[in-house]
Amino acid sequence: MASPVPRTDFPTLARQARGGNRLVYLDSGATSLKPRAVLDAVEEMSVAKNGAVKRGSHLLAEEASAAFEDARERVARFVGADPGELVWTSGTTQSINLLAYAMSNVSAGRGPSVGASPLQGRLTVGRGDSVVVTRAEHHANLVPWQELCKRTGAALRWLDCDSDGRIDLETLSVIDGSTKIVAFAHVSNVTGAIAPVEAVVAAAREAGALTVLDACQSVPHMPVDFKALDVDFAAFSGHKMLGPTGVGALYGRRELLEAMPPYQFGGSMIEVVEMDGATYAQPPERFEAGTQPVAEAVGMGAAAEYLAAAGMSRVAEHEKKLTERMLAGMADIAGVWVLGPREAVDRTGAVAFSVDGVHPHDVGQVLDADGVAVRTGHHCAQPIHRHFGVFASSRASLGPYNDEADVDAFLEALKKVRPFFG
Ligand code: PLP
Repeated sequence: MASPVPRTDFPTLARQARGGNRLVYLDSGATSLKPRAVLDAVEEMSVAKNGAVKRGSHLLAEEASAAFEDARERVARFVGADPGELVWTSGTTQSINLLAYAMSNVSAGRGPSVGASPLQGRLTVGRGDSVVVTRAEHHANLVPWQELCKRTGAALRWLDCDSDGRIDLETLSVIDGSTKIVAFAHVSNVTGAIAPVEAVVAAAREAGALTVLDACQSVPHMPVDFKALDVDFAAFSGHKMLGPTGVGALYGRRELLEAMPPYQFGGSMIEVVEMDGATYAQPPERFEAGTQPVAEAVGMGAAAEYLAAAGMSRVAEHEKKLTERMLAGMADIAGVWVLGPREAVDRTGAVAFSVDGVHPHDVGQVLDADGVAVRTGHHCAQPIHRHFGVFASSRASLGPYNDEADVDAFLEALKKVRPFFG
């Protein structure tokens, strides 16, 4: 099977794992490996183009500013957005907090020209309103909404999941006329299940609610176009899509971003400042107070370009074949059960699993002894674990650089787990 990306592009794969073993990296759901092109882009920004963005007229500052905006364009193009609709953040977590705080500010009547735009009514939540999430959310797309509800008096409701952990469409009825926001993950970081975006967006639209897509686990693994998905907001992280840590983005429809007040204040987000007040810049700068993670943003732009060149359809097809192989192999190992769909249909290669009678942490250690890196714990998604009747699990998650040898090495190591604990 031809890989969509050469493994030699990823220097980390050249290092040895524990015990001198070949590194079998199956933890891309937590953080991905970075190709040389991304590492070089970051280094170039830190060395040759080490200037402050939009704060100087010298060559280095100009080159840094151009590279920063060029990266915004690349990332925006990669997800079907306009550059003006893409706000830099430190990652998905900050993107969602930014939105929830901006909504608190609108709801409290704070912010620029409050009341001026009818759209601000759609961003306002209060008593009698509801915010809808799903039981399968990462805490980053759950706790900020819980807090928004606490601050505003709105009610938090959720779509439930079926026995495979997929969104149960029967529960779409919780979205009703009181719903202001429907926030849900495109792909679950536990089950790998791809959400029925069309159905959820249609229900939200009918109720007049805005949609927020946590695209952190989809953007790195499949073609994603926010405009085609017709969502109002979306969040994703650089480090899950072959880019650096510390950078991510919030996509928002232009007119909604324009109606939103800032949530952080200071340099770079203003228009005019007087001693007794200030007016604010247009989006996206309005939401980018202070010095941004410039080198990291440029690295994220390089990652988007790298993935686009590899072809996201090829990436998705490659990972689907590996997922099929992994799920088939796991089904043959006694005592191993998968949390999530057991067929490689409408799902990605993030595969959480339990091994009967063995703590997930111990599973991780046995695999690590053979050079296989997986995640263990609750993966910042406690409610969906409880849904499956466990507190934690182990998770093997694929990236475009994985191959059949990785999957086979994982399966061989997994076979040893139960015998090891007798
Ligand atoms: N949402 C999902 C589905 C995730 O998998 C993660 C990270 O694991 C996050 C949100 C949070 O991303 P970050 O830690 O990059 O902000």
